[in-house]
Amino acid sequence: MTGLSAIELEDVVKEYLSHGEVVQAVKGVTLDISEGEFFSLLGPSGCGKTTTMRMVAGFEAPTKGLVKLHGKDVTDVPPNKRDVNMVFQSYALFPHMSVWDNVAFGLKQRRTPQEEIRRRVGEMLEIVDLAGREKRRPREMSGGQQQRVALARALVNRPRALLLDEPLGALDLKLRQAMQIELKRIQREVGITFVYVTHDQNEALTMSDRIAVMNDGLVEQLARPRDIYERPATAFVAGFIGTSNLLTGTATGGELKVGGGRVLVPGHEGEVTVTVRPEKITIAAEDPGPEASGVRGTVAEVVYLGTYTSYSVSLPDGTDITVFQQNAHDSVATAERGDSVWLSWRAQHSYVMGS
Ligand code: ATP
Repeated sequence: MTGLSAIELEDVVKEYLSHGEVVQAVKGVTLDISEGEFFSLLGPSGCGKTTTMRMVAGFEAPTKGLVKLHGKDVTDVPPNKRDVNMVFQSYALFPHMSVWDNVAFGLKQRRTPQEEIRRRVGEMLEIVDLAGREKRRPREMSGGQQQRVALARALVNRPRALLLDEPLGALDLKLRQAMQIELKRIQREVGITFVYVTHDQNEALTMSDRIAVMNDGLVEQLARPRDIYERPATAFVAGFIGTSNLLTGTATGGELKVGGGRVLVPGHEGEVTVTVRPEKITIAAEDPGPEASGVRGTVAEVVYLGTYTSYSVSLPDGTDITVFQQNAHDSVATAERGDSVWLSWRAQHSYVMGS
């Protein structure tokens, strides 16, 4: 990454008129995406991700605000005059054309010299790992291969930024995971800014340099994957990226009284909302003592998931806490449904929201 701005949105609002009513799809989004960055817009269905992306591409005009590409205001510039390309979930390949012709299409249209087309298409098919399959038709290829053709076709024009809207949505889980790694490798190799729209948390965590988590037309948090997971800004972010295990209450002396025990929140007083991730919690038979957070509960559900087991533990106040325990070869079965247990975790694993 160069640190230079590739894409800037300044307080962008998008309103639609729907059945005589104004719907705000995007309610004021400000973003600054760097050149060469892999940036994701993540959020649930209807939060405004696609609308935001379409304003970057120029398919939608903002109701308010500015869109800048590489430092220039392009708010009123049509899509074909913007130096970005977009890849969709439906690959939109030409079915009657070979892989080679699909990828070469844009270059031919622009009357690029034959020799250059041959070189660029060849290079691009190497990068997406499709060399040797030039003569195939799209229908003779798997979903993952078709998606790579679509990617090659978008990249061969050398856009300065590539916008990808749920491009892996149609693939099954295994293939999708393999393609996530591939996409990241390709992005690194071509060095182009990627803006990626997804509702899949793992996908965003796997690939992104930074993620903007969107909810209801607004960005709730913009940060690196690790910070999004470990330091969620809001309860929404904590719950959308993994399991939030929220605990709320009044802290006194850096402690929250919960379920016959305590949650340590050093340095915090008054009303707090705490999140603790399931893999940070240990199940024990005894109170861990005052040096750690310890709360009592009853095991309500045990789900064996291969590499780990997920426990749902109900606290006396009705709060359910999820705990993941690794199924390492030397571990013993820790608890069963109906058992009364202690949950413990270290003080630094209570993350106080908004701190
Ligand atoms: P998904 O993951 O389902 O595609 P999204 O986060 O991309 O969702 P958008 O497609 O950006 O969400 O839509 C945001 C909101 O704007 C939704 O409530 C949607 O119904 C509304 N919306 C989008 N396009 C239009 C339109 N052309 N006319 C009216 N409302 C629209």
